[in-house]
Amino acid sequence: MIERSVDNIKGVGPALQEQLETLNIFTVEDLLFFFPSRYDNYQVKPLNELIHDEKATIEGEVIGEPIVTYYGPKKSRLTVHVQVEQVVIKAIMFNRAFAKKHLQPGEMVTLTGKWDQHRLQITVTHYKKGQANVEEPIQPVYSLKQVIKSTTFKKAVHQALEQYYADIVEILPDEFLTEYKLLNRRDAIKEIHFPSEFEMVKQAKRRMIYEELLLFQLKMQQLRKLNRERTTGNSQQYHQEKVTNFIQLLPFELTQAQQRSLSEILTDLKSPYRMHRLLQGDVGSGKTAVAAIILYASITAGNQGALMVPTEILAEQHYQSFVGLFADFGNVELLTGSIKGKKRKESLQRLQNGQIDILIGTHALIQDEVHFAKLGTVVVDEQHRFGVNQRKALRAKGMDPDVLFMTATPIPRTLAITSYGDMDVSQIDQMPIGRKPIETFWVKESMLPRILRFIEKEINQGHQAYVICPLIEESEKLDIQNAVELYHQLQTTLDNKINVGLLHGRLSNEEKEIVMQQYANNELQVLVATTVVEVGVNVPNATVMVVYDAERFGLSQLHQLRGRVGRSDVQSYCILIADPKGDIGKERMRIMTETTNGFELAEQDLELRGPGDFFGKKQSGLPEFQLADIVHDYRALETARNDAQTIIYDEKLENDPKYQALKSYLEKELMEKSTSLD
Ligand code: ADP
Ligand code: MG
Repeated sequence: MIERSVDNIKGVGPALQEQLETLNIFTVEDLLFFFPSRYDNYQVKPLNELIHDEKATIEGEVIGEPIVTYYGPKKSRLTVHVQVEQVVIKAIMFNRAFAKKHLQPGEMVTLTGKWDQHRLQITVTHYKKGQANVEEPIQPVYSLKQVIKSTTFKKAVHQALEQYYADIVEILPDEFLTEYKLLNRRDAIKEIHFPSEFEMVKQAKRRMIYEELLLFQLKMQQLRKLNRERTTGNSQQYHQEKVTNFIQLLPFELTQAQQRSLSEILTDLKSPYRMHRLLQGDVGSGKTAVAAIILYASITAGNQGALMVPTEILAEQHYQSFVGLFADFGNVELLTGSIKGKKRKESLQRLQNGQIDILIGTHALIQDEVHFAKLGTVVVDEQHRFGVNQRKALRAKGMDPDVLFMTATPIPRTLAITSYGDMDVSQIDQMPIGRKPIETFWVKESMLPRILRFIEKEINQGHQAYVICPLIEESEKLDIQNAVELYHQLQTTLDNKINVGLLHGRLSNEEKEIVMQQYANNELQVLVATTVVEVGVNVPNATVMVVYDAERFGLSQLHQLRGRVGRSDVQSYCILIADPKGDIGKERMRIMTETTNGFELAEQDLELRGPGDFFGKKQSGLPEFQLADIVHDYRALETARNDAQTIIYDEKLENDPKYQALKSYLEKELMEKSTSLD
């Protein structure tokens, strides 16, 4: 029974048990599944196999007395010559003068450190008298946070394996082991802690990674299935002809991608399942138009709809365009934090009476005081900005409404598969006809005079420009100071017929509103802004986007900003002012100038930044794996997903005895973590 607590392991007393608990290790199983974070390799290699600048272990005979030189208090450098395969190697050690007595001429030593191929020199980090330990050349290194000594920990793991090896049960059905040539669970765990050779560590990890990913995907697929089975009766019987009519009255034809997504969503509405769908599409690809249509469909089914967006500006903007669109089709209202008092009370009353068909707002939509008469469909824009609890609260308001999440941050496929594994995904991967790709340039700040002339030229043709200054995260004050300075600078340097506006986070909503409105009316031709314009602002007449300190933004964020222009059939431009220091930064700027496809950018961003940074740590909501890396192990992830789908779809867990272990494991997991559908 590996579920027993760690004190059942011989040699683990109360003190050690307590220490283990601080590492979240309570049971034997926890201990066995606490994997090393890396391995040190003390395998001696012949000189001709060593790689410059990498870690190496060599074995040889000391020739000549070590020489120690001191520089500064407690700082020393020891130099000794060692003969390895007829070659004299120079070994250097810092601040370890005491080693001198161990490294006397004629002694055999094993040295590990960084190898310098050009100087035939090794900078030693680890040495040992005598020959290398051929028994255990590969040493696992655990992140023990200095709670437990590594040797103590390893001893405990060793003893745990002695006692419980036979109790580690296989959970993958045999056919998987055979098909993918995977180690069995016992041996994999043993190899991970006590590797016999590097190849075996690799194989053991490969097995455990597959297990990790399969279990995760099974959980996701199971949740999805439960979700489908759970809700009956929310079939929204919308009125097809009315919907068609609504679409025909739009000022444009839907793109094929919009039509496809729309039909996927409408199918969800009509079906008894509760919709749990993500609509991905580049900025300007027409997601909001699709949202409007499905919210209307919901109205024709006798229900109310809600559109929840991250900022008040965006709520206002959507509200304006929805009021126009729905003039003859429904009653649209706005609810934000700044609507207060009597006005608010009346609004809430109308909502409860069912007089409001569509409610648009920010987080204000999910406060306790808000009650819908009959909430049918919820659209959440920029969904990754909302926390799990907010989604849950909103959902709890209705009678299990259909929910559509929209995002203009194209999520790379890898992430969509993992973090949204329990969602259906629709994708608008096509821009409305006639859009020209935005031309993007990367320049240094010294080019500013030319940029200003370019802006003037565009404005003389009747167009408008955005100038974005970076968000200085450490200090909102500096941030605003920056924006204000830039604003003044542009005011004085640009042609005095050009009006410049300023938008930043310190302005009141009213002030923001006024500036936005002036910009939308082309009373202001240049808008200097901090990243507040990032989300969703729609001014089709703007053709130039200038981003200061572009290297401080993520690719996806830059792409979002760029999406503020190019919203009509006029050629638009994006100018990135950046002086990145490192290679990655330069690479990112280069990618921006070459790619206008958001999905492609997202993939590249992910590759450069890693998944943890992709959405920003807090919001990532990404599952944490012990071994698997969703970028690197992408192929395994896809395989696991397909396998999980087959297992759930064919109901193997219920019906096939070979899947018994997997089934119990999953049941336990779902119960323990009390995973909710959100
Ligand atoms: P998103 O929400 O994906 O950023 P929007 O729905 O706001 O995109 O659409 C961006 C702009 O394109 C809006 O002005 C909208 O009216 C227009 N638009 C949407 N769909 C089409 C289409 N199929 N053809 C032409 N213009 C469209
Ligand atoms: Mg439904």
